[in-house]
Amino acid sequence: MDEQTKSWRIVAVRRLSEALLEALSEVAEVDYFEDVDESNRADFMAALSRAHGLIGGKLELNEAMLAEAPALQVVSTISVGYDHLPLKALNQRRILLCNTPDVLTETTADTAFMLIMATQRRLVELSNLVRDGGWRTHIGPEYFGIDVHGKTLGIVGAGRIGAAIARRGALGFGMPILYTAASSKPALEQQLGAKRRELNDLLAEADIVCLSAPYNSDTHHLIDADALARMKTTAALINIARGKVVDELALIKALHSGGIRAAGLDVFVEEPLPPDSPLAAMDNVVTTPHIGSATHETREAMAQLAVDNLLGTLIGSGPLTAVNEHVWRRADAIEET
Ligand code: NAP
Repeated sequence: MDEQTKSWRIVAVRRLSEALLEALSEVAEVDYFEDVDESNRADFMAALSRAHGLIGGKLELNEAMLAEAPALQVVSTISVGYDHLPLKALNQRRILLCNTPDVLTETTADTAFMLIMATQRRLVELSNLVRDGGWRTHIGPEYFGIDVHGKTLGIVGAGRIGAAIARRGALGFGMPILYTAASSKPALEQQLGAKRRELNDLLAEADIVCLSAPYNSDTHHLIDADALARMKTTAALINIARGKVVDELALIKALHSGGIRAAGLDVFVEEPLPPDSPLAAMDNVVTTPHIGSATHETREAMAQLAVDNLLGTLIGSGPLTAVNEHVWRRADAIEET
């Protein structure tokens, strides 16, 4: 590695194995933070002020912090979602933002299906019944669940993950598929017989509504009290997207009042979910701690892709998966002229 390459400085935060940190250290000086909190924020900012690249999971970054990072060229997040990062400010400063799509698609779709199954068949509630010694006689209708196979699955946001959920539903469980997306999906329609619907129609027709759209100003509280009121009272809501896509207070009310039957939630407005949240205690809610992509294999693949994106950008071969690739291309073009 030549001296120019070695002069890169990288700040790494969370979710990187020792092997990947070593790989980064071969080409750059790396400041690694297991976590960033009040106790080490000043050190983190000092490192960021010298850094050319920032990589990690659950990165906290805002415009003011970017103003103190004049050398920063690339932010590589170990996630597909980037709603927690200031894209507009990154664009203005021509800082490349890379994410990790595709490698987490199948695992996150598995998580959605786990929540679908658990919610329909009351897995947690009935497992707790056994654990707590409440299984004393045969199980009667008060503990029966609802079929998954054959039920209508509504996918709100039929992108990479939404399509993978739809495939599981249609091919594995014989479920009719309805979907919303910004654009139509001819492949899903042809291969799975999926039908595109307006959101309100999807909500009214689906037995299971699964949220897999990104969080942004358009999808903030996409599922509010009105939307919940359109759903069948027998329906379940599954959210693997982001907490703020749903009006959580309205959801709690709908679950309490029987407006909808159940919910399976991997994401929340506040994470970690406060232990006193009603969602943590309701029998008709299955909660998981934001584990959509959290398997050994997938988290390793995400971290590897994030490292490849970071090094590709700094060293020059280019990022594999960038959110704002035009920023990098423009920088490249300017260099050539
Ligand atoms: P993606 O391929 O970009 O899919 C997003 C889909 O949402 C696209 O089909 C898009 O339509 C559609 N969409 C955009 N705005 C919409 C709106 N207002 N209403 C309905 N649909 C809308 O992204 P992905 O890789 O599937 O990931 C989706 C999201 O899942 C991520 O942004 C992330 O927040 C979340 N996620 C969560 C976890 C977890 O741990 N729980 C893990 C991974 C991802 P077009 O295709 O027409 O553009």
